[in-house]
Amino acid sequence: MRKPLIAGNWKMNKTPSEAKTFAEQLKSSQMSQNVEVLVCPPFTALCKVIKVLKGTNIKVGAQNMHWETKGAYTGEISAEFLLDAGCQYVILGHSERRQYFGETDETVNKKMLTALKVGLKPIMCVGEHLSEREAGKTFEVIKRQIEGGLANITSLENVVIAYEPVWAIGTGKTATPEQADEVHAFVRENISKKYGNETANQIRILYGGSVTPENVDNLMAKPNIDGALVGGASLKLDAFLRLINFTPK
Ligand code: PEP
Repeated sequence: MRKPLIAGNWKMNKTPSEAKTFAEQLKSSQMSQNVEVLVCPPFTALCKVIKVLKGTNIKVGAQNMHWETKGAYTGEISAEFLLDAGCQYVILGHSERRQYFGETDETVNKKMLTALKVGLKPIMCVGEHLSEREAGKTFEVIKRQIEGGLANITSLENVVIAYEPVWAIGTGKTATPEQADEVHAFVRENISKKYGNETANQIRILYGGSVTPENVDNLMAKPNIDGALVGGASLKLDAFLRLINFTPK
């Protein structure tokens, strides 16, 4: 059984003080125990949020990291720093990082290898642009990103994959549950071919792209959707709680 994961990607939002207040409110809220909950604040808020959420079931992750463990990489953050700070997860290869910061399948793969080596659980993001979908290239793009990002990775036990069609991120334009499930099934099939059925059945594949309280129940009803990676709706307490307390329909 795959435990659903609802993950909030706060992007470049919330000061450390705002993040602390949000974490305190989240901590004292009622939420389903059948769902794994994760928040991914900006680097500067990680320590405060981790301190507030210590001893709860709410996990904390980062939004990025460097593939080297230390050294002359001004402005960068290593996997070991994140682990020592108390992070359990890290989002890698988000489309905004691919689009604005030049990340490629190769750099995503280097980061994946390092994250797994130190004991962080990576959430590897994949997704096609609108032009690629319209050109009928969705599966080709996803296959390339999956194969490239997972190169030389032998165990997927600690890996989460997030399918985030670029055209649906922050646009209010969600993939239909059918569109999302079709790609998730394709990802699972590809994982099965390379890693076997057991791994394919165990790996969690999240959907991301304008998930809201209005569409979460229908998305989560699909057999291959194991959770959500959420930007905008994870910044508001009521909305995020509604996502965590989803009821598949
Ligand atoms: C994201 O940040 O990964 C995301 C899916 O954003 P949004 O929910 O705002 O579309």
